[in-house]
Amino acid sequence: MTSVLQGIGVSKGIAIGPAYVYYRELPEVLEYAISKYAADDEVKRFEDARVEAQRQLNNIKNTLSNDTPHDITLFIDTHLLMLDDPVLYEDTVSHIHARLCNAEWALQVQVERIVKIFDDMDDPYLKTRKDDIIHVTERIQRCLMNEPEVNHSEDKLDTGKFGSHLKDRIIVADDLTPADTLLMQHQKIAGFITEYGGPLSHTAILARNLGIPAIVGVHNAKHLIQANDQIVLDGNTGKIHIAPAKKDVTHFKSLIRDENKRRKLLFDLKNKPAKTEDGLKINLHGNIDRPADVRVLRQFDHTGVGLYRTEMLFIEHNGMPGEDEQFETYRRALRSLKGHPLTIRTTDLGADKELADTTQHGPLVHNPALGLRAIRRCLKDPSIFLPQVKAILRTAGYGPACMMIPMISCISELEQTLELIEQAKSELKSRRIRFDQNIKIGAMIEVPSAALVADTLAKKLDFLSIGTNDLIQYTLAFDRIDDEVSYLYNPLHPAVLKLIQMTLNAGETQGIRVSMCGEMASDTLYTRLLLGMGLQCFSVQANSLLDIKHIINNSEIAKLRPLTEEIMKLTDPTEINLAVDELNRCFS
Ligand code: PEP
Ligand code: MG
Repeated sequence: MTSVLQGIGVSKGIAIGPAYVYYRELPEVLEYAISKYAADDEVKRFEDARVEAQRQLNNIKNTLSNDTPHDITLFIDTHLLMLDDPVLYEDTVSHIHARLCNAEWALQVQVERIVKIFDDMDDPYLKTRKDDIIHVTERIQRCLMNEPEVNHSEDKLDTGKFGSHLKDRIIVADDLTPADTLLMQHQKIAGFITEYGGPLSHTAILARNLGIPAIVGVHNAKHLIQANDQIVLDGNTGKIHIAPAKKDVTHFKSLIRDENKRRKLLFDLKNKPAKTEDGLKINLHGNIDRPADVRVLRQFDHTGVGLYRTEMLFIEHNGMPGEDEQFETYRRALRSLKGHPLTIRTTDLGADKELADTTQHGPLVHNPALGLRAIRRCLKDPSIFLPQVKAILRTAGYGPACMMIPMISCISELEQTLELIEQAKSELKSRRIRFDQNIKIGAMIEVPSAALVADTLAKKLDFLSIGTNDLIQYTLAFDRIDDEVSYLYNPLHPAVLKLIQMTLNAGETQGIRVSMCGEMASDTLYTRLLLGMGLQCFSVQANSLLDIKHIINNSEIAKLRPLTEEIMKLTDPTEINLAVDELNRCFS
């Protein structure tokens, strides 16, 4: 019988396919005694599992594409070496004989010993090897327990056995990290459903960027949906249909066909200017997380990047990449843009964009979104910031790249940041390295205090960019990754609109560009209102580029301005909502 679950649709689109219920946790390892006559069989079982783990890793290695980053291949080689390590292998075998226990338990006891040795080490690099040993033993444990292979970081970009496992499936998980989402996209999943998470979490943003239909906040989904259940995931409505009737599947398939047709028509706009009916040219750029995303962007439009979130480089590297590695990465992005501008945001680590490696975490705090994140973390530890600033300055020596600072909340933070940028410039100068002395520097306006003093900030900057995801989170005091309060997300709240307007006015007074790169810019519902308020630079998800361009090209600024002025006088959010609907209808 069909049943329907309701969640929060965070990435539009419909997916139809079998469920893959994603368990991060291994079942509990239990100890049981074996007779001394069974010890050799138990050792053989352990040996078979180890060989199977080796086979899986080799399989992954053989199916990696040529452009797989070196650190990923290195990762797999390290794990293969660990599988052969006598400390892991011989000592586990000795435990089986000595304790007369099952292989799983013997392995667990041995791993706990190794982990303790790593924990007692002072060297942070060696400490990180602990995660490798845990991943390797988990793989052997899964083989011993006949558990399906699970997605770990060494499976990155796997398109082999594990890849075909997930292909065209709808993933059901408690939660996913941005890195999980990226890996799953490589494995060509059809969509995903999570029990937790909000529409503005980085994972949800990534899903939209990658065009993966997704629903979050479906509590107990992992219990309500069984492995291999046929499901329809409707990212537009947030509804999940489990075991849908044939006629419903036919209906959803026809919706998918209609959407494909609509998108095909939109492609006529590719590489055409974004220009209102009355001739105002609008800057329409895209958001990226990695240089490879430029390719995705170019599928929709040959344009620049208004927000390059560099955290993914740090997350994938699981640590702090050096100046040269960063320079190479940013330069790769710049090169693929073929002359279009690249706005590189300095790292915004913290909150939902955290490193997996716990030794590199910021402090564990109750409110990470209000804690040591983004520029705060960089100012506290310039050893994170300076290599990145130098890498960006160097990149700008080779083409139109500029630097953007996230989470600035007051003028003194900006002043400290600018001082560090000057320090980086002098260091590069003394090293006689090519860089752009006059690089354009901008700040994200994503904290209410920054919007309120945007005029002062603007005097020291070349551009501002409104980050509505955080600006709305902080203005309305709701956690952007908590589905329980995600109903509070309202870009049309008068307080939010006022802060946006103040920022636009500050830019105009100081004669600097103001862009918007938060999710509000990617939602066609708000495009006309923003145009009417005076926004002329949008940076949006690749997927939304043509939709937004279509709206821009079918709008008239002269008509929008007076209507928007009236909307800005309203104080009731419901009335504002209705008025914006009306505004949109005027042009359809
Ligand atoms: C924002 O806050 O709107 C933004 C673009 O930054 P992020 O989503 O990466 O926090
Ligand atoms: Mg932000």
